[in-house]
Amino acid sequence: MKKILTESQKKRYSRQILSPSIGEVGQEKLSKVRVLQIGAGGLGSPFALYIVAAGIKELTIIDNDTLSISNLQRQILYNEAQVGEGKAHAAKERLSNLNSEVEIKAYNDYLDENSIKKYIKDKDFIVDCSDNFETKFLVNKVAIEYNIKAVIAGIKDFFGQIITINPKKTACYECVFNQPDTFDSSEGPLPVIGVTPGILGTLEALEVIKTTLGLPNLENKLLIVNLLDLLFNTIDIVKSENCMCSK
Ligand SMILES: [Zn+2]
Repeated sequence: MKKILTESQKKRYSRQILSPSIGEVGQEKLSKVRVLQIGAGGLGSPFALYIVAAGIKELTIIDNDTLSISNLQRQILYNEAQVGEGKAHAAKERLSNLNSEVEIKAYNDYLDENSIKKYIKDKDFIVDCSDNFETKFLVNKVAIEYNIKAVIAGIKDFFGQIITINPKKTACYECVFNQPDTFDSSEGPLPVIGVTPGILGTLEALEVIKTTLGLPNLENKLLIVNLLDLLFNTIDIVKSENCMCSK
């Protein structure tokens, strides 16, 4: 039997249901989406807020960090009273208060090739909101291996980039960026103005929404954002025959 939105859902999401690109049918699609979010920091804050507000079914967040005062400049999920708390726990508290109709799961866990596999079952998307390349390549690899759509973004200072991956069909992160043999973890904190992850994390939520609805998205495209000069450039990218995603 066809699932129909409840009256409270129709009311809550009325403004986006009014969009000819969404409607009740689109909202029903969104209400079935399960997302795995990697990282709950600068990118993860706006991503989680917007994707939970939009009314997906379930959001699972993995983060092993503790909130510090220097995070608050950009990590808008949190407040001063939560400094010292685990971000996973603090994020769940905030997001459950925002939308109790969305199932929020949050785990304080370190992410690697083995641990990520615990969380991927039944997910429609993996969204990378991490702050390091090693995790981005891992998210890409797992997405390809388990055929889960992925959105990956990166930021530094006033600059950012974002890509959406539909495994087996579109170019992946490694088609665009060469994976180094080793990752340099000695690099200190990168400069960042809070608005940059604010915009890129918001775009990640937009990508999940538009990909779910079959609207134009960043598959086979890389969006490069320069907020200093306010330039948004989309470049076409091609799936590489030599990449692991073609094997
Ligand atoms: Zn590839």
